[in-house]
Amino acid sequence: MKKLRLILGDQLNQKHSWFNEVDESVTYLMAEMRQETAYVTHHVQKVVAFFMAMRSFKDDLSQKGHQFIYLKISDKENPHALSKIIEKYMKKTAADRFEYQLPDEYRLDQQLQCICDELQIESQVVDTEHFFTGRYELKEFYKGKKQMVMESFYRMMRKKHNIMMVNNQPEGGKWNFDQSNRKKWKGEPSIPLERGFRKDIQSILGELEGVKIKTFGNIEPEDFNWPVTRRECLSVLNYFCKELLPYFGDYQDAMHENQKFLFHSRLSFAMNTKILSPKEVIEKVLDQYYEHTDEIKISQVEGFIRQILGWREFMRGIYWKEMPQYKQLNGLNNTNKLPDFFWTGDTKMNCLKHAIDQSLDSAYAHHIQRLMVIGNFALLTQINPDEVDQWYLGVYIDAIEWVEITNTRGMSQFADNGIVATKPYVSSANYINKMSNYCSNCQYSHIKKTEDNACPFNALYWNFLDEKKEYFKNNQRMTMMLNLLNKKDKNEIQQLKERAKDIIKNPMQY
Ligand code: FAD
Ligand code: SF4
Repeated sequence: MKKLRLILGDQLNQKHSWFNEVDESVTYLMAEMRQETAYVTHHVQKVVAFFMAMRSFKDDLSQKGHQFIYLKISDKENPHALSKIIEKYMKKTAADRFEYQLPDEYRLDQQLQCICDELQIESQVVDTEHFFTGRYELKEFYKGKKQMVMESFYRMMRKKHNIMMVNNQPEGGKWNFDQSNRKKWKGEPSIPLERGFRKDIQSILGELEGVKIKTFGNIEPEDFNWPVTRRECLSVLNYFCKELLPYFGDYQDAMHENQKFLFHSRLSFAMNTKILSPKEVIEKVLDQYYEHTDEIKISQVEGFIRQILGWREFMRGIYWKEMPQYKQLNGLNNTNKLPDFFWTGDTKMNCLKHAIDQSLDSAYAHHIQRLMVIGNFALLTQINPDEVDQWYLGVYIDAIEWVEITNTRGMSQFADNGIVATKPYVSSANYINKMSNYCSNCQYSHIKKTEDNACPFNALYWNFLDEKKEYFKNNQRMTMMLNLLNKKDKNEIQQLKERAKDIIKNPMQY
């Protein structure tokens, strides 16, 4: 029996059981498609990184003897649409059976199910063997429960997978060391330079240009530094464990003008494309920790494990539980347009300028920049979550819908009415100043409220609370914020609201 097996661009798991042995009756099919470059406009570095990673995956496995059909974006015979590609190569290889791995995106899942329904031959779908959880495991876990708090899921995962557990109790006596993860970075400890992976991207850029693939963002060949091969991804993991893990938790929420990555791992692309599995990342981190317990505190390690075993699996579970209706949610009824400076970085607000410039230059911003600077501004100015999602889905190297939409529409924009977050992540300048050095170099004053040079986040914050107070009045986690709002002088509130209205109406002037 001849089999054709499809591998999507985010299914680059070389350890998948499909590849345990070379099977001459199997042909693997991979394609760089317009369909995938066009469902949203992507950052140019994201497209380059995906295609490079796919090519390297195919090269590694071909060298081991597996047979591949690989269509490059510039290949003349590339039909560029999944259904046509499958149809064409089913015929060409005279396959009797079509197999694919479970897609992580709802859109592709639906498309592949339709394609299979129309095929004249047998088809089979198998697991990607990547995640700790099955697609619907979270749905089962929360069945009958009123609220889906991530912490309870995380504790279940720690127990189930026996990670940082001692006699069925959490190691260190606590499940969560989040309270110790709140330091501002002031130049110390120093961050050793990473070796980097400079590579020739000119030819792939030429191919993209040749077939007119629309992208945005910047790419400087000498700065393109994303790990795209398995060897490179393992090297980034090693670097993280040796150099950054000892400080990861402490500075997880910190932001700094001169540091893009601080102590963050930059492993999201490697994991979201499945080049690295979350299991091997966690195992490596724990090995490093247990070998160096004198140097690495538990709070640093637990903070990291929680992101991967907790948040990452949680977001995937929420996605499959809530899609497709999740994509339509706009609980706060926000309808404003995304300001043009999201595409240029052309704003006087220093924190936003830095976070957006960095996103456009590197296809990366770390979690707190995404949540408490860019997302905070989008929510406070009440931008339509569809527009916010489109931007986030396009700009980040790691943006794949299952993890982008749950973080953006859910955690950041509260458009899902609190499925992911128990309260909206909004703040005035106070938080940004506490966690970064942005405010000290800004032309706005983080202390002032209504003056011409007052930080826009201050007026926007109080205006947001005032406008949404009815919506949040029964949310206990909002009680303190709403009480403070109620105590505010009515005249001051009026002035703050007037300033906020002007910022929302004319964002490009701020
Ligand atoms: P580190 O800080 O080193 O964290 C380690 C790993 O933990 C990450 O690689 C990631 O796999 C995982 N992780 C951490 N936080 C989360 C989270 N909230 N959800 C899921 N996994 C998490 N992450 C994406 O992978 N793709 C996205 O499109 C994406 N969009 C986001 C949008 C918004 C508005 C926000 C607030 C967060 C988003 N995140 C997204 C989560 C997080 O910001 C990124 O995973 C992280 O910044 C990637 O950088 P890193 O690998 O250096 O992460
Ligand atoms: Fe951002 Fe306001 Fe601080 Fe300027 S003062 S950096 S706008 S928070």
